[in-house]
Amino acid sequence: MSEKISRRRLVQAGAVAAAGAAIPAAAEAKNRRKKKPVQDVVVVGAGLAGLMAARTLVAKGKRVKVLEARGRVGGRTYSPKYDDVTLDVGGQWLGPTQDKVAALAGKLGVKTFKSYWEGQAVYQRSGSRTLFNVTSPIPPDPDGGETLGFVLKLENLAADISRSAPWQDPNADFYDGQTFETFKLANTTGDGARFLTDLATNAVWACEPRDISLLHLLFYISSAGNETTPGSFIRLTSTTGGAQESRFVGGSQQLSIRMAKKLGARVVLRAPVRQIRQEDGLCHVTSDKGTWRAKQVIVAVPPAVSAFIDYDPILPSDRAQLIQRFPQGNAIKVQAIYDKPFWREEGLSGYVNSDEGPVKLMYDNSPPDGSAGVLLGFIEGQEARLAGRMSASARKSAVLDNFKKTIGNAAGKPKAYVEKNWAQEEWTRGCYGGFLPPGALTGFGPALRKPHGRIHWAGTEHAEIWNGYMDGALRSGEDAAKAALKKL
Ligand SMILES: Cc1cc2nc3c(=O)[nH]c(=O)nc-3n(C[C@H](O)[C@H](O)[C@H](O)COP(=O)(O)OP(=O)(O)OC[C@H]3O[C@@H](n4cnc5c(N)ncnc54)[C@H](O)[C@@H]3O)c2cc1C
Repeated sequence: MSEKISRRRLVQAGAVAAAGAAIPAAAEAKNRRKKKPVQDVVVVGAGLAGLMAARTLVAKGKRVKVLEARGRVGGRTYSPKYDDVTLDVGGQWLGPTQDKVAALAGKLGVKTFKSYWEGQAVYQRSGSRTLFNVTSPIPPDPDGGETLGFVLKLENLAADISRSAPWQDPNADFYDGQTFETFKLANTTGDGARFLTDLATNAVWACEPRDISLLHLLFYISSAGNETTPGSFIRLTSTTGGAQESRFVGGSQQLSIRMAKKLGARVVLRAPVRQIRQEDGLCHVTSDKGTWRAKQVIVAVPPAVSAFIDYDPILPSDRAQLIQRFPQGNAIKVQAIYDKPFWREEGLSGYVNSDEGPVKLMYDNSPPDGSAGVLLGFIEGQEARLAGRMSASARKSAVLDNFKKTIGNAAGKPKAYVEKNWAQEEWTRGCYGGFLPPGALTGFGPALRKPHGRIHWAGTEHAEIWNGYMDGALRSGEDAAKAALKKL
């Protein structure tokens, strides 16, 4: 499933995929042959953020090019077909208050449907398997009450955190001076409460509580709402009423495919951008498909990936230091396809919480009409790091063991098995999004959205609302387009 551009091809072209890379000789020769017209804006990256930025600019009559490294659009959304079943191997869900993504889907004619959320869920803990109603607010753990109390504490703290400048919070130094692990240990006592907190951290940030700054976590919770609704941790982790409520018919990549279709030849695929040089009042954006000149540039890639571009003049120290502290999370998404969702007939919802890796979280991910059965498993945080070191066959067998133990023996014999390790994707380097360790927001936060000369930053990691989500990606693209428009 690797989408890596052939390294041999890049080497032949004289390119080296690293910061400070040489400009491909073939690209330079092509430029000399034919000088392209100056663009108002060049957008780097055809994910949701980049395409939304381009769409916004084109609607204002601007001349735009979108340069995309991969041979497809959509970035962290990708919806290929297996056995006639469309699978979202990247982002897939949308929920209440994610108004941008819902509105765009409406405009583009992409329909949505509700996630399957009926029947019994499985709580696999300390070697025993307990069933509970999937609509219960929390699994049947003796520490369930303590867990809910801790969640409410987080909700209250997050309610005060600014979405635009969390580093200005009066408690910013205190929150950013500790990991979420430190905070969890100081505010919980029960093993169950700690386990459920770890599981939720894995599920939302694809990292461990020890990896993430408490301030960044509170900001992220605060961002999980819209202009009129405050953010909520419960909304982040819920299906009904939350971020996992609905899916897109035909897969989430449809949004990007349809936006790109409208943009037409403005989108150039297999054009990884290697260098952005600002000179003589213009930006010179060099990709493997040639150099484009533009008045403004929007870089719409994950912050960690933006570090692989060579900037001339170099990035200001604040931005350079910030992106050195902005790792992507770690998740492997695994899906198994069956003739039908047989677990539904047994009264199971397909939803699982487990303390046995590699898969600790599962969902029913069958198509809307239930014409095939799909079980979805997430391998996240430390489990993804460990599973990423296994051979593919050992990982598959460990995953199917999890499926059998929690859903039943039939789950061990799928028709097809599909996995995607996003940390191995050259143009993504991890998922679901970037998160910040202690000290990063208070040290370098103001650099997050500050342009570098004519270069603006987009991508879900820059969003004030629904940071980390498809909705946030669209908002960040629109915001960057507005900032670029002001300068044109
Ligand atoms: C497994 C998984 C599950 C997720 N689940 C959900 C979910 O259920 N709901 C939700 O809302 N969100 C989810 N997300 C997150 C969501 O997919 C992202 O927030 C969103 O797609 C990010 O869009 P973006 O445009 O900011 O970045 P990206 O999608 O990463 O787009 C960046 C683009 O830039 C390109 N690029 C990178 N470097 C260069 C370069 N040098 N030159 C040219 N192009 C370059 C990349 O190829 C890519 O196309 C999930 C993500 C993953 C991976």
